[in-house]
Amino acid sequence: MIAMLSGCGDETLSNCNAGMETSVYLVSSDCRPLTWGQAIPISLFYGSTLSSDGQFAIREAVKTWEEQTGLHLFEIMGTYQEYPGIENNQSINLISVRPSSDPIWGTAGNKEPAKTVYYYRDYLVNSDVYFNTSFKFSIQNEPQTYDLISVALHELGHVLGLDHDNDISSGVSVMNSTIFVGQQRRTLSPRDIERIQALYGYTSN
Ligand SMILES: [Zn+2]
Repeated sequence: MIAMLSGCGDETLSNCNAGMETSVYLVSSDCRPLTWGQAIPISLFYGSTLSSDGQFAIREAVKTWEEQTGLHLFEIMGTYQEYPGIENNQSINLISVRPSSDPIWGTAGNKEPAKTVYYYRDYLVNSDVYFNTSFKFSIQNEPQTYDLISVALHELGHVLGLDHDNDISSGVSVMNSTIFVGQQRRTLSPRDIERIQALYGYTSN
């Protein structure tokens, strides 16, 4: 069985009475923390509708996750020709865009700048990221826009298996669930780094 859940704006995860330590990770329907196991690096494809700014933001986000954790986590495979219903293709980890009218957003459609959808068996097996084209993004801090690189960094954190972290007592996580227009959050917090190293640190020598 493959189960589907989504990061950002989804209440599925709150059903788990997980301890502090597991609640920062994406969890299965029976509340197990989810990882990709040995299937690292994760192969990512740009959808053919993703803009060049979107591609740039993903490349920057990949670089940040890898440089700051010291781990090889992602492999960007290139562009994948999209077709109607591609969101059901569970063999392609797709980075794409959808308008807020698209069913992919569910009831959170007009609130969420982006969303990550993930599938798992024992481990995570597929993850897609969508940016909401009804929001304005930029990579160079244009007025009244969301910072595309910050949002990409957050969504790739979901892809890796992280849930939200709204603790602000010792640094702000890139997995904080709130970001404002004009706000840049382009650096991992020590907690973000520790969590990814805990999940995937065995891949380094
Ligand atoms: Zn999120």
